[in-house]
Amino acid sequence: MTSYDAIVIGTGQAGPYVTSRLAGAGMKVAVIERHAFGGTCVNTGCIPTKTMVASAYAARMAARASEYGVDVGPVRVDMKRVMARKEAVSKASRDGVEAWLRNMENCTVHQGHARFESAHEVSVGGERLHADRIFINVGGRAFVPDMPGIGEIDYLNNSSIMSLEELPRHLIVVGGSYIGLEFGQMFRRFGAEVTIIEMGPRLVSREDDDVSTAIREIVEHEGVQVRTNAKCISFARHGDGIAANVDCAEGAPQVHGTHVLLAVGRRPNTDDLGLDKAGVVVDDRGYIGVDDQLRTDVPGIWAIGDCNGKGAFTHTSYNDAEIVIANLLEDDPRRVSDRITAYALYIDPPLGRVGMTEGEIRRSGRKALVARRPMTRVGRAVEKGETQGFMKIAVDAESGAILGAAILGTGGDEVIHSILDVMYAKAPWTVIRRAMHIHPTVSELIPTLLSELRPMEAPTAT
Ligand SMILES: Cc1cc2nc3c(=O)[nH]c(=O)nc-3n(C[C@H](O)[C@H](O)[C@H](O)COP(=O)(O)OP(=O)(O)OC[C@H]3O[C@@H](n4cnc5c(N)ncnc54)[C@H](O)[C@@H]3O)c2cc1C
Repeated sequence: MTSYDAIVIGTGQAGPYVTSRLAGAGMKVAVIERHAFGGTCVNTGCIPTKTMVASAYAARMAARASEYGVDVGPVRVDMKRVMARKEAVSKASRDGVEAWLRNMENCTVHQGHARFESAHEVSVGGERLHADRIFINVGGRAFVPDMPGIGEIDYLNNSSIMSLEELPRHLIVVGGSYIGLEFGQMFRRFGAEVTIIEMGPRLVSREDDDVSTAIREIVEHEGVQVRTNAKCISFARHGDGIAANVDCAEGAPQVHGTHVLLAVGRRPNTDDLGLDKAGVVVDDRGYIGVDDQLRTDVPGIWAIGDCNGKGAFTHTSYNDAEIVIANLLEDDPRRVSDRITAYALYIDPPLGRVGMTEGEIRRSGRKALVARRPMTRVGRAVEKGETQGFMKIAVDAESGAILGAAILGTGGDEVIHSILDVMYAKAPWTVIRRAMHIHPTVSELIPTLLSELRPMEAPTAT
């Protein structure tokens, strides 16, 4: 048995930061990783997908080049080189995390699958480690739904699609949310036929109707087929390919493709962690229960990142790590409830989102003002020839607080931060209204947008 001051399980987006801060404070820390350093974001999530989105954007702009007065000839995408570029970017990040941890003073790296033996003991390989403080950062993996015929076909998920070297002739994407849409548009731009099958009545159902509709228009405009209301999805082999039964109210009952990507959600990696031996409780979906400062019910054990169900993003995981360290080392009682919802969807143009949706505001019964502007009325977007989408913002009619915003349009993932930071400052919308922004930018239209606020309609009775 080797004793440490702290054990960190997993090197995702929270574990390495916690490790570095504790080791930097003089604690002896063991960090355990069973697979690839850097976890999902670095290896099969944000970094490789956004690198591939960049290749897809290049292909799209090359195909549109003549609109800009530029002749480039026929566009051909070389998937091997797209994947090699993606792998180089991922590898640099993965190697960076590994080297950082291995060279860190007071830190010992263990490679292998960690399991709790008790509340203060973890086994890895043949070794047993002991610590009074244990941080669980085990992340999650793609969920495989129990759909009829799924066992009869080969399917891809966000990990295995990273190893594809050929372009699918027809990619069927099951799931019309963030991951499915990013892959769907990207592979369409690479030259594949793509059909996105969504069980719900609209894409990205967590967003407002107008956002869902505009996203559907954007991907359909590029030739992605979208099948919503696919209530009873099932699969069967069909010649060399796959038949997916979609049972939609409209359109053909079957879609025939060559590859299937499952993008129907994630599940936490908590099922083989020995949590019962430590007394750590999970909910019915496997997420570890934590309080507002990310402590589990067992003293000395924290759960950070996707495995606690309080976020499903790299920035929420990293923020978890900051909250834990602020409480432990900085005498700063930061809490999860201090943070404001913020995320992006990386189709092109991207969607940047903060705070409440319009639907959530209506349901809350608040009096609110809302403004909306299409990107066709944003000079910067017109100049760039990227006018799809719109921006909207909602504020509290009484306090002036900004309640939420969506920017679906060129630069939306960056521009949204000009709103987010004012929300963190707890300043009213009038602060942005009076700010002088730089011309020509997308951001310069946010003060103008705020001059167009109108009362939000009350919810219609159902
Ligand atoms: C396709 C895709 C695209 C995404 N794009 C974005 C994006 O653009 N922006 C964004 O913010 N988020 C994005 N995400 C989500 C983001 O990747 C995750 O939220 C983020 O990685 C947080 O992960 P984490 O720190 O909780 O753990 P992870 O990054 O999942 O890491 C957990 C680590 O723990 C290790 N581990 C697990 N169990 C054990 C064990 N028993 N013993 C030892 N080690 C173990 C794993 O091997 C892994 O390395 C995307 C996800 C996917 C799938």
